[in-house]
Amino acid sequence: MNQEMNTGWGLIGASTIARQYMADAIRAQEGHFVQAVMSSNQERANQFAKDCNIPAAYSSLEAILADPLVKVVYISTTNDLHFEQAIAAAEAGKHVLCEKPLALSIDQAVEMAKACKQAGVLMATNHHLRNAATHRKIKELIQAGAIGKPLFARVFHAVYLPPHLQGWRLDKPQAGGGVILDITVHDVDTLRFTMESEIQEVVALSQSASMAKEGLEDGVMAAIRFENGVLAQIHDAFTVKHGGHGIEYHGEAGSIFGRNVMSQQPVGEVILRNADGEQQIAIEHEGLYVRGVRTFCEALKGNGQPAATAEDGIRSLAGALAVLDASKSGTRQEVRAFTL
Ligand code: NDP
Repeated sequence: MNQEMNTGWGLIGASTIARQYMADAIRAQEGHFVQAVMSSNQERANQFAKDCNIPAAYSSLEAILADPLVKVVYISTTNDLHFEQAIAAAEAGKHVLCEKPLALSIDQAVEMAKACKQAGVLMATNHHLRNAATHRKIKELIQAGAIGKPLFARVFHAVYLPPHLQGWRLDKPQAGGGVILDITVHDVDTLRFTMESEIQEVVALSQSASMAKEGLEDGVMAAIRFENGVLAQIHDAFTVKHGGHGIEYHGEAGSIFGRNVMSQQPVGEVILRNADGEQQIAIEHEGLYVRGVRTFCEALKGNGQPAATAEDGIRSLAGALAVLDASKSGTRQEVRAFTL
């Protein structure tokens, strides 16, 4: 492959998600390759590069951004670092695909989007669930009126944080740990996506049952009112080993059940129940991250928008922060307004 003619990516963060999904998702795109990885620790960068067959390994942001073959960066460090790394990447003229939550505050996330816009580079958010064939089908069904006027949604996303991820999410508030910034932000994004509606207000209670420390939460239940009138109930946790996961939408004329659909894998089923009875909807599964990166690469060519834009990332972060604020304050919270 002639690398000069193709688009090189730099992985900022020697993370699990980059190793398990994203390096391969980038390589699945024609004309795209992974040129470099950056870790704060040179040895870890070297090992990651060796394991994942990546030509260059760096231990500083300046170094990876100075690599002329890196045209796009994928940021998957801990949540506190996304902000400064995205700003620096934009200033270096690199396109940015950033992990969720985009940042720790709406102001930071807005600044990231503005920096990318000003630099004329593309920015997007790696919300994978809106790339799932299941959620896309659910959106189609809702928009086609299959359940009539939507009234309620319920998200079951109380899962068990696997041992290899039981680190900063549980004990580093300064890194953006806690289940709300980790999982709730995905639920919010998924609901916004399927219903094409924004959050109006939130009430929430959180729990710190057994795994989270330092004031972080490892479980949350929230009730959210969307602008379309739907009340959504969200149940997220790191502590539930055998709960399973899914999503439901209940409307005046029918209900949709998404089972095993809050997953990183292309799995799960969608069932529609209405006056005609119950039917399992045919789903053509596809890799969630592969599709997400594909929409980003198409947008780079001028074809459409990335699956989750920078604005989606900000809006979904704003929803998650409203849940966090509601749970901390014990009061009803509205989503904070922002301008781009
Ligand atoms: P990891 O804990 O695997 O990686 C985060 C950082 O921790 C890395 O950048 C790395 O720092 C450091 N690190 C990793 N392994 C080690 C180690 N063995 N020893 C010391 N430090 C280590 O996080 P995740 O991959 O789970 O998450 C990264 C980001 O991606 C987060 O923002 C998260 O919210 C997001 N995410 C998104 C998902 C999605 O589906 N969209 C799914 C999972 C995560 P360094 O780079 O300096 O080496």
